[in-house]
Amino acid sequence: MPAIQFSPNATALTIAGSDPSGGAGLQADLKTFQQLGVYGMSVITLLTVQNTQAVTHVEVLPASLIRDQLNAVLTDIPPRAIKTGALGSADVVRTVSENLKDVSCPVVVDPVLVSKHGHVLVTDDVVEAYRTHLLPLAFMVTPNRFEAERLTGITLSDEHSVAMAIKRLQHFGARNVLIKLGEVSGRSHHWMNGENPGSRPEEARLFESVRMPTNNTHGTGCILAATITAKLALGETRPHELAAFAIQRVSEAVAVNTHLGHGIHPAEIRAMSRGDAT
Ligand code: PLP
Repeated sequence: MPAIQFSPNATALTIAGSDPSGGAGLQADLKTFQQLGVYGMSVITLLTVQNTQAVTHVEVLPASLIRDQLNAVLTDIPPRAIKTGALGSADVVRTVSENLKDVSCPVVVDPVLVSKHGHVLVTDDVVEAYRTHLLPLAFMVTPNRFEAERLTGITLSDEHSVAMAIKRLQHFGARNVLIKLGEVSGRSHHWMNGENPGSRPEEARLFESVRMPTNNTHGTGCILAATITAKLALGETRPHELAAFAIQRVSEAVAVNTHLGHGIHPAEIRAMSRGDAT
């Protein structure tokens, strides 16, 4: 296995929840950063009690403690890119947004609102706080199908509605939108806005990949957004290149049969040197 080569300036921060079983949340983010040769930092927003079978408890940390963690990190080791994951409450979304308003690096927002199986995870005030406070700061937002529907109020039934949802998320302030649509006719579909600023809805681009019939999907949303964040920290800024690389990497991760745990197995990220990643 090649040694991971670190770039001294490549630093990334995740602002996310803890998954003690290591498959999702900040643990997945930090592993992803590390494997791409990026120095990882984490501000913890909430603790989950979970394993691969179930989440049995969520404890959101006080917003003041999250603000203090952010201050400590941001005044000491400036990140080259930031990712947000599960934030848990409207108060936390507002606090995080307030603290990210003046950072100059790109922010990737993974809006953890609805699980990939359709379970609602947060209340409506959290959704509203995302729209008003955090999406305007996002270089890219990466909702799954249900999150995109909840954020926009648009039911994703065909290509036109997907294009309209992308435009609405851009209207809320996100510069780029990558919707993880999920399975369509046995293939895996992701959609992103056209690459040029001000592109028309019909210029939205479909990324189609092989859908692996596996149970190794715990953490795939986190890995996708963390991969994009790591590549931003390494200096890649073209949205379509970022999306294509991250989608490919997630496909590779779900293809590895870890057989870890008794529920939905964690996707396993292959170790990869920085050289391999570019
Ligand atoms: N963040 C935390 C703390 C979680 O526990 C989860 C899911 O369990 C997620 C994010 C989202 O996980 P996934 O990448 O599987 O969508």
